[in-house]
Amino acid sequence: MNQFQYVRPTKQQAAIDVVAKDANAAFIAGGTNLVDLMKRGVMTPQKLVDINRLPLRQIERAGSGLRIGALALNSAVADDRLVREKHPLLALALNAGASPQLRNMATVGGNMLQRTRCPYFYDTTMPCNKRQPGSGCGALEGINRMHAIFGFSDKCIAVHPSDMSVALVALDATVLLSGPKGDRKLAFADFHRLPGDTPQRDTNLEPGELITAVEIPDSPFTKHVHYQKVRERASYAFALLSVAAALDMDGNTIKAARLAMGGVAHKPWRLAAAEQALVGQPATEETFRQAAAVAMQGAKAFKHNEYKLRLGPNAIVQALKTAAAA
Ligand code: SF4
Repeated sequence: MNQFQYVRPTKQQAAIDVVAKDANAAFIAGGTNLVDLMKRGVMTPQKLVDINRLPLRQIERAGSGLRIGALALNSAVADDRLVREKHPLLALALNAGASPQLRNMATVGGNMLQRTRCPYFYDTTMPCNKRQPGSGCGALEGINRMHAIFGFSDKCIAVHPSDMSVALVALDATVLLSGPKGDRKLAFADFHRLPGDTPQRDTNLEPGELITAVEIPDSPFTKHVHYQKVRERASYAFALLSVAAALDMDGNTIKAARLAMGGVAHKPWRLAAAEQALVGQPATEETFRQAAAVAMQGAKAFKHNEYKLRLGPNAIVQALKTAAAA
């Protein structure tokens, strides 16, 4: 691991100032991803700004929604009474991620910022445009069974690994940011980026910007929800593919729906057209199959991940069936 300086400010502005003025500085909170990346030489910040002393752990009502501080632990959010009552989909997605030990360390902000688990990104002997722009993409012609079927480019076909983010994009969350130019809000759907020609940029964060909180508006999606995660072992594994499903039902009729997938794109993948296809329809397998077909339009596979074209619609149907029955 490279040597680095370590500072632990108690004031938010002081933390932002350090990272804004030094391109080689990085925020650290739980460190569950960043420390791994530093050990492997994938990321080599020369200064770490530990933000754990900042007062950003609150989970509270804010207007007609819920505000979750960026330093709230994944386990604390998943167990929180308000979260379970108002946004059970978020609790399900959080508990599907990582392991209890990691959820006790990982924060909401860090979860959003975790890097792809593409093996070529972690192997510094291999080409990777995300780690080293212009070096090529090892996965394009390599082992790409975990990779994207939506929104990829010829520069990068990696997927975003967060489960929590799939629920947050489905729930129309907003990200609160603070940076050298002041505070701003960003729709969660606009927080992560598609790779395009700049796969080294995972998000639309500006230099020095700090995630301070996430806000989720109240919604009717408090009962009929499910997070379907398909993975290679029962726990502590990243999704081959996942589906966040939420339904607002009137008897057996779907009044509104929220649907998003994980493990399929460089960002959590909202399925707006499939949601629309569900509205006004009876909650039947046929309806769910039709919506899944809409959801998969435009999907394209690589040599080793063609299975996702079959797994995707099946997982969507299963998630919707389970949500409807909840
Ligand atoms: Fe790197 Fe992206 Fe290619 Fe993986 S898919 S090797 S992260 S450029």
